[in-house]
Amino acid sequence: MEFYLPKPFEQRMRQQLGTEFDLYLESLKEPAPVSVRINRAKNADAASADVVGWENDGFYLSERPVFTLDPLFHAGMYYVQEACSMFAGYAIKTLLGDNVSNSAILDLCAAPGGKSTHYASMIGDNGLLVCNEVIGSRVPILQENLAKWGRPNVIITKSDPSEFGKLGGFFDVVAIDAPCSGEGLFRRDYSAMDEWSVENAELCAQRQRRIIADAWNCIKPGGYLVYSTCTFNPNEDELNMDWIAQNYDAENVQLPINEKWGICKIEYNGLQGYRFIHYKTKGEGFFLCVFRKKDGDVANWQKGKVKKHLQHAPQALIKQTTPMLIGNFEFYLNNDEIRAIPASIDKQYQYLCDKLHVVGAGIETAKVFGNKLQPQHELAMSNNINRQYFNTIDLNLNDALKYLHRDAIFVEGAKQGINLVTYKNTPLGWVKNLGTRWNNLYPQNWKIRMNLP
Ligand code: SAM
Repeated sequence: MEFYLPKPFEQRMRQQLGTEFDLYLESLKEPAPVSVRINRAKNADAASADVVGWENDGFYLSERPVFTLDPLFHAGMYYVQEACSMFAGYAIKTLLGDNVSNSAILDLCAAPGGKSTHYASMIGDNGLLVCNEVIGSRVPILQENLAKWGRPNVIITKSDPSEFGKLGGFFDVVAIDAPCSGEGLFRRDYSAMDEWSVENAELCAQRQRRIIADAWNCIKPGGYLVYSTCTFNPNEDELNMDWIAQNYDAENVQLPINEKWGICKIEYNGLQGYRFIHYKTKGEGFFLCVFRKKDGDVANWQKGKVKKHLQHAPQALIKQTTPMLIGNFEFYLNNDEIRAIPASIDKQYQYLCDKLHVVGAGIETAKVFGNKLQPQHELAMSNNINRQYFNTIDLNLNDALKYLHRDAIFVEGAKQGINLVTYKNTPLGWVKNLGTRWNNLYPQNWKIRMNLP
């Protein structure tokens, strides 16, 4: 397929890259590499021998399979993530070291959740990840990807960045993977070039500054801002890096880089950022820089009060729900829905519910039907499900795909009532065995839409 670079973009890139411009142009004709990051908490194993330099769980694949036809893709066993963007996770791991597992991280621009699922793998049982997406139509895909990833210490919010300032210094890391002009992704989708304009890139740069300004206050003193884009545009990258240094009491932080990775160190006004460009790094275009906040206030979340609409579940329901899970949880009842919040983040959860628009948290465990509980899909996907408590039936590939397609299937051997269905021993969801047929309880909105082979 042919592509035509927008003229002003081409002129700027010629200037920016000098004699290397032709290498860039050639690299645009190459196919984009395919990479995945595996979910070790679901016992996923290496996906290939070609490991992404900066991420041990990231692997390049030699070709692009039809991921939709792999049940393990739907089970959250891996996430198809562009390799360079895994560098955001590398940055956070490097900055926090061993403390990463106990830290509070905000992914402010989170949908569809590539980096969120990465951060979710990094935090331990005492850590907290808040994933925010302000565009309502993009929230469901974020919820779906995080539910499939199966980590419990995650809160999903749908708030404007301006609402985060009132939290006070709450997060060890605020990651802003900003909406940008997307120049680094032209290779993946040539038609994106048609959307590009000088004016739009400038609007992006201004919006990025507003987002940073909105979020700055919710970084703890000593905490970090990890700012990234998928563009090569200096207004959105170098100049915004400089703008941060000019406007905030912040120290620019450098990261250790292995020369072999082919990452360009970008020096600007004594500051350093990192750029990924196709002909040097195996992946798509990306930019990242880090700042450490020197001063500021600390949020007083320990004194958070339970909001009226946050009703703890009654003891009888807690007793019924507790054996479904492994771990220490607080249980909340919202209408007929029981939500399990890890006890370790309960106070922060209450604090955030008071200040932000929380649209998901912990594990939606069960729904109350009369005096019975029906386990919910988030529980099936969760790493904290108590597998011993449920009848399980393992499906072959054919039946697993039919299940995910939401077809009517019936497999001998399932016990009456609710069964957990698995593929290669990895949970896919629930069915209700009525004796002669199954009710397929796979979420309607998540079903495979393509025709099965
Ligand atoms: N971090 C995501 C990932 O790794 O999958 C990709 C994020 S994408 C580059 C930027 C996100 O910012 C989009 O989901 C977009 O909806 C969101 N966004 C758009 N306008 C925004 C705004 N004014 N404030 C905050 N986020 C915004």
